[in-house]
Amino acid sequence: MKSQTRKRIDNLLGSAKLRRTGPRVAILGVLLGARRPQTAEQIAVNLAPAAPDKVTIYRTLESLVAAGLVHKAFLQERTWHFELARNCTESQCHPHFTCTNCGDMQCLTEMSLPMAKSPHKGFVIGRQRVQLEGLCPKCNPNL
Ligand SMILES: [Zn+2]
Ligand SMILES: [Zn+2]
Repeated sequence: MKSQTRKRIDNLLGSAKLRRTGPRVAILGVLLGARRPQTAEQIAVNLAPAAPDKVTIYRTLESLVAAGLVHKAFLQERTWHFELARNCTESQCHPHFTCTNCGDMQCLTEMSLPMAKSPHKGFVIGRQRVQLEGLCPKCNPNL
């Protein structure tokens, strides 16, 4: 791991007042280097052969989510995909685009959507998470 990455991880953990543990550092390292949200399985593959066991990976992810450092980006095939919360605001995660033809997924970090208004009295919207579907440039026949 590069010293620059280590420094960023230390800053993240420090800002969330989380203790620096091996699994936290390793998982944040994977997410920092990832270009798209990762499942616990993908993180394990990435850290092999030194990967912590599955239970530890799940628990560590949950602690990072609880601290607000990591977000559950979306659920696909009943599996959560995790990513760093760095491209999100307090109330809104950036949208994710899934190609219905090839299944490719992209983080639309440059895109921000107006926040939905509460539908009825009594509802409070705490977080907006948008998933978009369609054709990616590779699969778009009109390109
Ligand atoms: Zn596609
Ligand atoms: Zn994303």
